[in-house]
Amino acid sequence: MVKITIGRHEGDRRWYDTFEVEEKPGMTLLEALFYIQERLDGGLCFRYSCRGAVCGSCAMLINRRPGLACRTQLSDVKGEVINEAHRDQILLKKAPLDANKEEVIVEPLPNLKVIKDLVVDMEHFYMLLDAVKPWINIPDDRSHEENIIDPHLQMQIERYTNCILCATCHGSCPAAARNSNYMGPAALAKAWRFYLDPRSNKEDLAELLTTIDSKEGIWGCDVVYNCVNVCPRKVPPTTAILKFRDVLKKE
Ligand code: SF4
Repeated sequence: MVKITIGRHEGDRRWYDTFEVEEKPGMTLLEALFYIQERLDGGLCFRYSCRGAVCGSCAMLINRRPGLACRTQLSDVKGEVINEAHRDQILLKKAPLDANKEEVIVEPLPNLKVIKDLVVDMEHFYMLLDAVKPWINIPDDRSHEENIIDPHLQMQIERYTNCILCATCHGSCPAAARNSNYMGPAALAKAWRFYLDPRSNKEDLAELLTTIDSKEGIWGCDVVYNCVNVCPRKVPPTTAILKFRDVLKKE
């Protein structure tokens, strides 16, 4: 049996519940949450969809580190010693944790409002993303033209298009914890993806640089690489931010 301690939220109430889950070989944390919901507490709320690390819906704090429940093996995290660096990011009252008892602690993603239990409100995250206008405006008279992108450049762009908007990076970001207006790693990585794209027009790129050139944008980053370390798709937001800083320093 594995003990799973879950940070619960309902309205203004916050508390921790510990459940015992019968571990099966290859069991993921998401499967353990289903076990709890189906057999022990039908009221437990968590978000999921694809169950295969494609949709990004099941992002949560796992042993005080942001990650996807569907791609986390229970055997990898039970009894894990919690990284002290991540303790400070937790907005919740700390739960008691006994690492000797094969325990896992699960909490909602930080830096976003909690709706219930492990379900956070993604609205703010999407609003920050919208601020960088993550799309390409192709004029009507060019909309039927073929756009051939250099394969080398395409590979650079693809590092950033792999983002699944899970907000794991946002939940790990100390700048986002301090300042809710900070655009955050995902939006700035997305901005770099469109900055690199040769189909973006000059006016939009100039506007983009103005948007991100502030303390709420690229200058707000602490450059601690939390986002790079936790991203399940290996997107490197800090690299994008540093590249933007180089661009703006040169202007
Ligand atoms: Fe998730 Fe990575 Fe995209 Fe951040 S950059 S939202 S961690 S996939």
